Amino acid sequence: MTPSKRISAITGQGSDGWEVFYRSRAMIAKGIDVVELTIGEHDIRTDPQILDAMHAAALAGATGYSLVRGHPKLRETIAARIQSQSGVATGPEHVLITPGGQAALFAAHMAACDPEDIAVHIDPYYATYPTTIRAAGAHPFAIQTQAQNEFCPTYNDLNQAPQGARSLLVNSPNNPTGTVYGPDTIDDICRFVTDRDMWLISDEVYDTQVWQGSHITPRNSPHMAERTMVVGSLSKSHAMTGSRLGWVVAPVDVIEKINDLVTTTTFGVAEFIQLAGLFALGLGPEFENQIAAPFRRRREIALKILQDFPDITTVPPSGAMYLMVDLRKTGLSGEAFANRLLEDHHIAVMPGESFGRAAAGHIRVALTIDDARFAEAFRTLCAYAQGIVDG
Ligand code: PMP
Repeated sequence: MTPSKRISAITGQGSDGWEVFYRSRAMIAKGIDVVELTIGEHDIRTDPQILDAMHAAALAGATGYSLVRGHPKLRETIAARIQSQSGVATGPEHVLITPGGQAALFAAHMAACDPEDIAVHIDPYYATYPTTIRAAGAHPFAIQTQAQNEFCPTYNDLNQAPQGARSLLVNSPNNPTGTVYGPDTIDDICRFVTDRDMWLISDEVYDTQVWQGSHITPRNSPHMAERTMVVGSLSKSHAMTGSRLGWVVAPVDVIEKINDLVTTTTFGVAEFIQLAGLFALGLGPEFENQIAAPFRRRREIALKILQDFPDITTVPPSGAMYLMVDLRKTGLSGEAFANRLLEDHHIAVMPGESFGRAAAGHIRVALTIDDARFAEAFRTLCAYAQGIVDG
């Protein structure tokens, strides 16, 4: 028996982009000490007070089936948070809780696209974007951005999308580039989807990690709330990656349809997790700044180290927990460099090519290990790359 064409097509013809990561995990399993700068996960675990809230909620009985669309109090709190950030009237009826932002990305594409529709996304992109779009039955179309334009899409870039495309997926603060879209980029995005009468899916899971400028949600622009779905999550903002707690914010009729989808897939999120999330959100911005602070520090450390290596450059990230390093002067692809670095120095990074064509010749370095170890590994990496340039 063979699996369906549909499920076989999810990863397309090519790889899933995680080979270097799998190699590094295999080396670790053999007992080799590998410095992992690959995956977007904090080096701290979920705060014990959030776990206490989770435990208390479970002991108090929040272990049965939960409401499919999410706990009313959590939906209210998320709606209020979004309204206070964006100014757009938002109520619990606009919010549906999902097991992580990833499930929200899938739900949003299922809601936006019919089978065979074209769903546009920006390149470089988070590795699951094309597979999520294919899983929803649509065809991904990548819009290339340029390093010299800080990886921001312009109206003209967006206009490369085929006529009839149904949705545009954007992500600011961005993984992998760390770019935070400014008002001009947001205007171009909103104008483009309005001119083409498309859905906008805005992945804002890094909205609490901004180092320069400020986070702008496109849902805030005039008439955008009716065509925008916002994807959010507590994974990055509250170091709750394993809890799988996210949401989609959308027009009410779309939330009703996503509710039908969720009824046939996840059937809701564990209530004790949702109540822990409610508690976590109640800890306020000070807690969120505390979670973000290490990435801000390590970004500074990396930028300082880069000053010593004239041929190794970066577009300084304005947000998120990564740094894209431009290695094009080495003449190597990001993938070749990442493989050599893993072999020779036991440092694992993600090749830029895992995130699309626009990131070729780059690597993504996650700022996710303690400062001293990070500084040492990053200096080793830069010196290795500079050595290749110098021949
Ligand atoms: N969007 C982006 C851009 C991400 O980087 C991630 C996770 N790395 C997600 C969505 C999904 O996050 P989660 O499912 O943990 O909320």
